[in-house]
Amino acid sequence: MTVSSPCRRNLHSHTFRCKHASGDAADYIRHALNTGVDTYGISDHTPLPGDRYNSHRMDMVELDDYHRAIKEAQQAFPEVRVLAGLECEDFDDCRSFYEDEILGQRNFDYLIGAGHFTPLRDQWEDSYFGMTSAAKLRAYSDHLCDLTESSLYLFIAHPDVFGLSSEHWNEDLKACSHDILAAAEANQKPLEINGGGIRQLAQRSGKGVHPGFPLREFWEAASDYQVTVVCNSDAHQPDHAMASIKECVQYAEELGLTIASDEQLGIKPI
Ligand SMILES: [Zn+2]
Ligand SMILES: [Zn+2]
Repeated sequence: MTVSSPCRRNLHSHTFRCKHASGDAADYIRHALNTGVDTYGISDHTPLPGDRYNSHRMDMVELDDYHRAIKEAQQAFPEVRVLAGLECEDFDDCRSFYEDEILGQRNFDYLIGAGHFTPLRDQWEDSYFGMTSAAKLRAYSDHLCDLTESSLYLFIAHPDVFGLSSEHWNEDLKACSHDILAAAEANQKPLEINGGGIRQLAQRSGKGVHPGFPLREFWEAASDYQVTVVCNSDAHQPDHAMASIKECVQYAEELGLTIASDEQLGIKPI
């Protein structure tokens, strides 16, 4: 049996269907093979009922083809545990679609919960910008707490994305962080250290702007909680299939964070 290592696993990757990534499932796995991968999850941005927000996600009509491409990759690369996933927005009226159709009828392996949007005053606002007011940060942390409570999601993607909006750590960011971490601990929901963020950090370093995420103070605070982390590349192009995973693992180890094992994530041995 293969010895599992967090450096040989990626559970966050995309395909051309989301309109801001390239390549298909098999292209990612082909690239990942060079790194000795043993587990590879394809997790493109989910289509939403009514094709909402479809400028950055596949249309519903593409779901069959997406699922077929993953199944073909499973057959083409039997040496890799290829998992079928989707990265999901947690809109209340989509939960039955995720549960009944995606996990139910289609029998996908897992869903990622992501807070790309924050519910504020009856609107969904972009979580990548303007996360500076205490009210918006509270709305974001409340939303992420809901995600951690749901059994639909295997882990939470880039919980520290709010770090993109502020130049300096402050009490509001701290409160937001602790609320999310306490909920993740209470619900035993793993949190993702996102490799895409690490690659952006590298691009921005030395340019005098806040580095974004991973948000160091968030993950330092995480080491005071009983939480586990998942290290992912968030690949949007095949040559990034396993990019930044080692850096994510190193980041976690430096801070004394526990990386979730395959067992904890319910991933069966190959
Ligand atoms: Zn994306
Ligand atoms: Zn993603």
